[in-house]
Amino acid sequence: MRFEHEGLLVDDYNLSLDRHCKDCGKAYTIGDYMGGFSEHHFYRPVDYKSGCERSCLECWLGVSEFVKPRPQNLQPVFHNLNLTFPLEHGHWYDDSHYEQIITGQWAVTYEKYLKDGCHLVVLPLARLQTDRVVLIPNGVAIYPVGRFGFSTIAGDQSALMAAALQSAASGVSIADLKSHPVMVFPVRFSWEALIHANHKDHMIMIDALSGLTEPLCFDLFRYWHCRLGQTPDEGLPALPGQLQSNLMMAGALLINGLTHQSVVLGGAAFSHKITRGLGLVLRQPEWEQMPYGGEVGGIVIHALSLYSQMIQTQSSTAKFIQALSLLEFLAFPKAYQKFTKVKTVISRYITTCPSERKKILDRFEELTGKKDPVTGDEMGLRTRIVHIGGRLEFLVPSGRDREALFLELDGYVRCVIDHMIDHSSLSWDSYEEVKAQM
Ligand SMILES: [Zn+2]
Repeated sequence: MRFEHEGLLVDDYNLSLDRHCKDCGKAYTIGDYMGGFSEHHFYRPVDYKSGCERSCLECWLGVSEFVKPRPQNLQPVFHNLNLTFPLEHGHWYDDSHYEQIITGQWAVTYEKYLKDGCHLVVLPLARLQTDRVVLIPNGVAIYPVGRFGFSTIAGDQSALMAAALQSAASGVSIADLKSHPVMVFPVRFSWEALIHANHKDHMIMIDALSGLTEPLCFDLFRYWHCRLGQTPDEGLPALPGQLQSNLMMAGALLINGLTHQSVVLGGAAFSHKITRGLGLVLRQPEWEQMPYGGEVGGIVIHALSLYSQMIQTQSSTAKFIQALSLLEFLAFPKAYQKFTKVKTVISRYITTCPSERKKILDRFEELTGKKDPVTGDEMGLRTRIVHIGGRLEFLVPSGRDREALFLELDGYVRCVIDHMIDHSSLSWDSYEEVKAQM
């Protein structure tokens, strides 16, 4: 069932979505009011279609005191899921099972994780192409379309879920996941709590699972394959979980480590989608190029997350400020320091030549807080944006100049991040000694 009226399209998913009235708090679905006499209220003069996403019909009509509220269960159970990522990956991956791993035989590939109480997550990947299996440290495998062993999953338990109706109405099914490359990794959570969780909890779950993929590899993929520019890079992949056919919808397949049964979660979990370009072509990365788990490695992982957020930002002004903040973090990840100190540290990464360094320090002055030597007027870009309310688009009006500016900032950031990745196994104190030699 769906209705369309004056440009408003309400599909099955939105009709069956559990909502809470903003006025009386009652649980309702738009579908409750479809059919029968109340259906007329969607149209003028009552015009309930303008308010059906937020209020129950009774409140919209102003008669809610005559209605007995439905018993409601507002208590979210998401915190009972105890979602955690396993810490032990010494057994990943088993070379003797290579054949089974690259042919998508997940029960063998993840045998030790599953015995250890983990469940498996399978997320569809949109705007991403790969023609072979990509293996990442920490138990992550990415399969091209048609390679993952969907046929060996024992059975679908989705119908047992409290939120089965909404998940079904989202239209997301195993068939959708089969038509995508998929990312597979182990997690721990309470299967029992998942089955009893409501639709909102499931959306939080998809968002949390997608978020887990960022530090595991997606921040690095974006760093390796995309660049900072005035418009977001055409190679940006969609958020893991988003579906190519309908980027508004997201899905996740969860496989029970003990029973090998599965559930599909589906719904509108994300608020935005990338539309520019075709996305990423992924190749197997060298594991040596990935940050190790030293103290410096932990700082790099946070820096990569900031980088990843920055290049997905649309506004040039916001991106410029984020780039300078990222340089501040890279220079002093543990405490605030003035930018005069920040630029001294950053310039050492960029060049060893003293006259080149002087040029870079002057350039950073222009980018941040330079004053006109005669009039004393503020000329620095950051000061004019943050303190005088300017926008980068007006301060640097030429698109070509802005592109060059972002390329320049990207170069500075990469000098530091690449160096840190090379030294990611070190403690911060040891790394300070390395920096002192620069
Ligand atoms: Zn109400």
